[in-house]
Formats: sequence, C-alpha cells, structure tokens
Amino acid sequence: MSRTGELFVIAGPSGGGKTSLFRAVLDRFDHLALSVSDTTRPPRATETDGEQYCFLSRDEFEEGIQAGRYLEYAQVYGHYYGTSKDRVQTLWDQGKDVILEIDIQGAEQVAERYPEAASIFILPPSLAVLAQRLRDRGLDDEAVMARRLGEARSEIEAAAGFDWIVVNDDFDQALAQLSGIIEAWPARVARHRQRIRDLLAE
Ligand code: 5GP
Repeated sequence: MSRTGELFVIAGPSGGGKTSLFRAVLDRFDHLALSVSDTTRPPRATETDGEQYCFLSRDEFEEGIQAGRYLEYAQVYGHYYGTSKDRVQTLWDQGKDVILEIDIQGAEQVAERYPEAASIFILPPSLAVLAQRLRDRGLDDEAVMARRLGEARSEIEAAAGFDWIVVNDDFDQALAQLSGIIEAWPARVARHRQRIRDLLAE
C-alpha cells in the first residue's frame, strides 16, 4: 500500500457509544470515508451486500488471508471481520482520509503494521454507566450483558496502548474532542518531515 491519506481507527467496548461517534464524524467531515469491511457473519435483514459489509464465505475469507488481502482481520463472536487493503487504497487514491470502526484486536494490528495511523479509544466514563447504557439499549438479556461487561473490562485494559482516548460522558463534548483529533492529526511533525527537508533545500 502506498499511503497518501490518513488512517483513523476507532475502537472501544460495545455500549460505549463508538458507533454513534463514528457516524457523527463521518457526517461532519466530507474528506472522511469509511472502508466497508469483509465479514463471514450472515447479513441481517436490513443489510445489503457491499453497503454495511461485503459478505463472504469462510473459504473466500481464508483465501483472502492467505493472499495478504487484509490490512487487519479478527474473529469476533466466531465470525471473521477484516479491512481490505485495496478498498482503503482506493479511498486514499480518491483523496479521502479513511476511518475504520473495528474491534480491539484489529485496532492493535493496524497500530503495529501502520504506526502512521491514529488509534482512538472511546472510553465510557465508568463501568456503571456502560452497564446502564447496555441495559437502556434493551438488546441483551442479563446473561449476555454480564458477558459484555466482562469483555469490556479486558478491552479497557487495551486502552492504554492507543494514541488517543475520548471519554464518552457527554456526547457533544466527546464529538468535539474526536473532531479536534481528526483535524489536528495531519499537522503532526512526522507527517511533515519531507516538507521541512524540501523547504531547507530551496
Ligand atoms: P457487527 O457484527 O455487530 O456488525 O460487528 C461486530 C464487531 O465487529 C464490532 O465490534 C465491529 O467493530 C467489529 N468489526 C466490524 N468490521 C470490522 C473489521 O473490518 N475488522 C475488525 N477487526 N473488526 C470489525
């Protein structure tokens, strides 16, 4: 891959509000685009192939792994999910910056392989708030909720390895902070070393 744009990675425990924040920044910034992931999870009734995900068989996905087609991939709840290198490159070639909303294992792989990416962890203000949000969603029974909370604990341990942490207490404040990170990230020194060299060579 020949990077021409930025890569932002958003992760965090489920119920922490990462999906709402992700959608809100996508709406706010025209230069941001999401890369549609591949998955082996069956489509839900509301989902269309190529829109929310590209739905593949396990064989197709594993072929993709062998062929080195994924920037990162992971198994979540028994299904593969992965980010296609080609799709990210195509968006960069169109002049877009790319934003991914992926699980923690995937975010860690991106950080390792592409240290130029900005990794952002969406942290709930407390486990009590997270539990309340999961309850309010009303999607899970008590047993699933208890499992999600257990998972959230171990996911939160990974937060310290990220570049940025946005505490999602108040949504608008969290959105403002996330927007600030996205705006400031291209100004980091590492992005401009060549420019400095060119300038001094004039
Ligand atoms: P869902 O099946 O509910 O759409 O997504 C389940 C989980 O998979 C979410 O935590 C989501 O962030 C994660 N996910 C979605 N796409 C990708 C991807 O391309 N790579 C990785 N590692 N995780 C993904």
